[in-house]
Amino acid sequence: MRLVWHRLPPNGFNHELIWLAVSLATLAGSAVWIGFGLIWPRCPFLAITGFPCLTCGATRCTLAFLHGDLLSAWRWNPLAFAALCVVAIFDLYAVIVLVAGSPRLRMVDWTAPEKKTVRIAVIGLIALNWIYLLAHRGRY
Ligand SMILES: [Zn+2]
Repeated sequence: MRLVWHRLPPNGFNHELIWLAVSLATLAGSAVWIGFGLIWPRCPFLAITGFPCLTCGATRCTLAFLHGDLLSAWRWNPLAFAALCVVAIFDLYAVIVLVAGSPRLRMVDWTAPEKKTVRIAVIGLIALNWIYLLAHRGRY
Protein backbone atom coordinates (compact mmCIF):
# COMPACT_ATOMS: atom_id res chain seq x y z
CA MET A 1 0.00 0.00 0.00
CA ARG A 2 1.25 3.41 -0.89
CA LEU A 3 -0.07 6.87 -0.09
CA VAL A 4 -0.06 9.13 -3.13
CA TRP A 5 -1.28 12.64 -3.87
CA HIS A 6 -2.84 13.12 -7.27
CA ARG A 7 -5.15 15.49 -9.08
CA LEU A 8 -8.80 14.55 -9.51
CA PRO A 9 -9.29 13.36 -13.10
CA PRO A 10 -11.91 15.30 -15.15
CA ASN A 11 -14.59 12.60 -14.73
CA GLY A 12 -13.21 11.14 -11.52
CA PHE A 13 -15.39 10.39 -8.50
CA ASN A 14 -15.04 13.29 -6.10
CA HIS A 15 -14.86 11.36 -2.82
CA GLU A 16 -14.02 14.45 -0.81
CA LEU A 17 -17.06 16.41 -2.03
CA ILE A 18 -19.52 13.50 -1.81
CA TRP A 19 -18.50 12.26 1.64
CA LEU A 20 -18.22 15.77 3.08
CA ALA A 21 -21.76 16.45 1.79
CA VAL A 22 -23.02 13.17 3.32
CA SER A 23 -21.35 14.03 6.62
CA LEU A 24 -22.77 17.56 6.74
CA ALA A 25 -26.23 16.40 5.62
CA THR A 26 -26.24 13.82 8.42
CA LEU A 27 -25.20 16.46 10.92
CA ALA A 28 -27.91 18.86 9.67
CA GLY A 29 -30.54 16.13 9.72
CA SER A 30 -29.60 15.21 13.28
CA ALA A 31 -29.77 18.86 14.33
CA VAL A 32 -33.28 19.14 12.84
CA TRP A 33 -34.28 15.89 14.57
CA ILE A 34 -33.09 17.22 17.92
CA GLY A 35 -34.56 20.66 17.23
CA PHE A 36 -38.03 19.16 16.75
CA GLY A 37 -37.60 17.08 19.90
CA LEU A 38 -38.29 13.83 18.07
CA ILE A 39 -37.68 10.63 20.01
CA TRP A 40 -34.57 8.57 19.32
CA PRO A 41 -35.07 5.06 18.04
CA ARG A 42 -34.78 2.33 20.67
CA CYS A 43 -32.44 -0.58 20.08
CA PRO A 44 -34.51 -3.70 19.27
CA PHE A 45 -31.59 -6.02 20.03
CA LEU A 46 -31.23 -4.53 23.52
CA ALA A 47 -34.99 -4.65 24.06
CA ILE A 48 -35.19 -8.34 23.11
CA THR A 49 -31.97 -9.71 24.61
CA GLY A 50 -31.09 -7.26 27.37
CA PHE A 51 -27.59 -7.02 25.90
CA PRO A 52 -26.22 -4.05 23.96
CA CYS A 53 -25.71 -4.49 20.22
CA LEU A 54 -22.58 -3.43 18.34
CA THR A 55 -23.81 0.14 17.97
CA CYS A 56 -25.54 0.73 21.31
CA GLY A 57 -24.49 4.05 22.76
CA ALA A 58 -23.45 5.45 19.37
CA THR A 59 -26.17 8.10 19.39
CA ARG A 60 -25.31 9.23 22.91
CA CYS A 61 -21.62 9.05 21.95
CA THR A 62 -22.30 11.37 19.02
CA LEU A 63 -24.27 13.84 21.13
CA ALA A 64 -21.51 13.94 23.76
CA PHE A 65 -18.88 14.29 21.01
CA LEU A 66 -20.72 17.22 19.42
CA HIS A 67 -21.00 18.88 22.83
CA GLY A 68 -17.24 18.52 23.33
CA ASP A 69 -17.61 15.97 26.15
CA LEU A 70 -15.04 13.62 24.66
CA LEU A 71 -14.59 11.42 27.74
CA SER A 72 -18.32 10.69 27.92
CA ALA A 73 -18.36 10.08 24.17
CA TRP A 74 -15.56 7.54 24.56
CA ARG A 75 -17.35 5.79 27.41
CA TRP A 76 -20.63 5.44 25.50
CA ASN A 77 -19.05 3.65 22.56
CA PRO A 78 -15.26 3.70 21.96
CA LEU A 79 -15.48 2.52 18.36
CA ALA A 80 -18.15 5.09 17.50
CA PHE A 81 -15.94 7.71 19.15
CA ALA A 82 -12.97 6.62 16.99
CA ALA A 83 -15.19 6.72 13.89
CA LEU A 84 -16.34 10.25 14.76
CA CYS A 85 -12.71 11.35 15.13
CA VAL A 86 -11.92 9.87 11.71
CA VAL A 87 -14.95 11.62 10.17
CA ALA A 88 -13.96 14.95 11.75
CA ILE A 89 -10.40 14.62 10.43
CA PHE A 90 -11.68 13.58 7.00
CA ASP A 91 -14.11 16.53 6.89
CA LEU A 92 -11.32 18.94 7.74
CA TYR A 93 -9.09 17.39 5.06
CA ALA A 94 -11.95 17.50 2.51
CA VAL A 95 -12.66 21.19 3.16
CA ILE A 96 -8.96 22.00 2.74
CA VAL A 97 -8.51 20.13 -0.56
CA LEU A 98 -11.83 21.37 -1.96
CA VAL A 99 -11.16 25.00 -1.10
CA ALA A 100 -7.50 24.90 -2.16
CA GLY A 101 -8.12 22.73 -5.24
CA SER A 102 -5.12 20.71 -4.19
CA PRO A 103 -4.23 17.09 -5.03
CA ARG A 104 -6.14 14.31 -3.27
CA LEU A 105 -4.65 11.71 -0.95
CA ARG A 106 -5.22 8.14 -2.06
CA MET A 107 -4.14 4.73 -0.80
CA VAL A 108 -3.16 2.61 -3.78
CA ASP A 109 -1.51 -0.71 -4.60
CA TRP A 110 -2.91 -2.72 -1.70
CA THR A 111 -1.43 -6.19 -1.50
CA ALA A 112 -3.56 -9.19 -0.56
CA PRO A 113 -1.83 -9.59 2.84
CA GLU A 114 -2.38 -5.89 3.61
CA LYS A 115 -6.08 -6.18 2.78
CA LYS A 116 -6.35 -9.28 4.95
CA THR A 117 -4.56 -7.55 7.84
CA VAL A 118 -6.93 -4.58 7.66
CA ARG A 119 -9.99 -6.86 7.58
CA ILE A 120 -8.77 -8.80 10.60
CA ALA A 121 -7.97 -5.56 12.45
CA VAL A 122 -11.43 -4.14 11.74
CA ILE A 123 -13.15 -7.34 12.89
CA GLY A 124 -10.93 -7.39 15.98
CA LEU A 125 -11.78 -3.79 16.83
CA ILE A 126 -15.49 -4.47 16.41
CA ALA A 127 -15.21 -7.53 18.67
CA LEU A 128 -13.22 -5.64 21.32
CA ASN A 129 -15.75 -2.81 21.23
CA TRP A 130 -18.64 -5.25 21.69
CA ILE A 131 -16.85 -6.88 24.62
CA TYR A 132 -16.49 -3.40 26.15
CA LEU A 133 -20.21 -2.68 25.59
CA LEU A 134 -21.20 -6.02 27.10
CA ALA A 135 -18.95 -5.41 30.11
CA HIS A 136 -20.71 -2.06 30.67
CA ARG A 137 -24.22 -3.21 29.72
CA GLY A 138 -25.80 -1.69 32.81
CA ARG A 139 -25.61 1.80 31.33
CA TYR A 140 -27.55 1.01 28.11
ZN1 LIG B 1 -28.15 -1.39 20.18
